[in-house]
Amino acid sequence: MIGANIEKIKEQIGQNVQLVAVSKTKPVELLQEAYNAGQRVFGENKVQEMVAKHEELPKDIEWHLIGHLQSNKVKYIATFVSLIHAVDSLKLLETINKEALKNNRVIDCLLQIYIADEDTKFGLDETELNALLESETYKQMHNIRIVGLMGMATNTEDENKIRSEFRKLKSLYNKLANGNKQFAILSMGMSSDYKIAVEEGSTMVRVGSLIFGNR
Ligand SMILES: *Cc1c(COP(=O)(O)O)cnc(C)c1O
Repeated sequence: MIGANIEKIKEQIGQNVQLVAVSKTKPVELLQEAYNAGQRVFGENKVQEMVAKHEELPKDIEWHLIGHLQSNKVKYIATFVSLIHAVDSLKLLETINKEALKNNRVIDCLLQIYIADEDTKFGLDETELNALLESETYKQMHNIRIVGLMGMATNTEDENKIRSEFRKLKSLYNKLANGNKQFAILSMGMSSDYKIAVEEGSTMVRVGSLIFGNR
């Protein structure tokens, strides 16, 4: 089942969009099943859980931390994480840079942008984003790379609303990607809205329940 679910989603999103299989709360047996079907990129939202799964599963898996990350937990994932999706402050970025340096790595990060009209979603607005990118502190960091943006649309049935939120994010992304080759990832879309996200220019979708079943 899991393999078939992945195939179907991959067909829909096309070859230019990457699929992150969001495996949070799911047992390693199910991740192994997805791995056996060829999936190599997995998304988790809790540090402890990602560390435990990383220890148990094959080492060629790319682990993406997709949820809100606390600075004091960065050290646990700094040795192996491939992409951190939800960076929303300069302070967090500084910690990631410091831990990456300790491990002699460069860690790829996405900045999370606030696009939904819900209080519960984290992220930067455009002013904060620009302030971060223009800060001296950021310019002095050599062990992180900001490779794109991530956002979550409002949880609603209203497709037009979702579409317009994704469109806003895409237009912000375009401004920054212009002339910047390392800026190549736009992470938007989950089970309920990835089709709209892809239509609006997503390059990476984070899909959980459609692959592994409801949580
Ligand atoms: C859980 C989660 C997803 C996946 O959600 P589904 O609805 O199961 O596809 C995507 N992105 C983030 C940030 C998440 O926390």
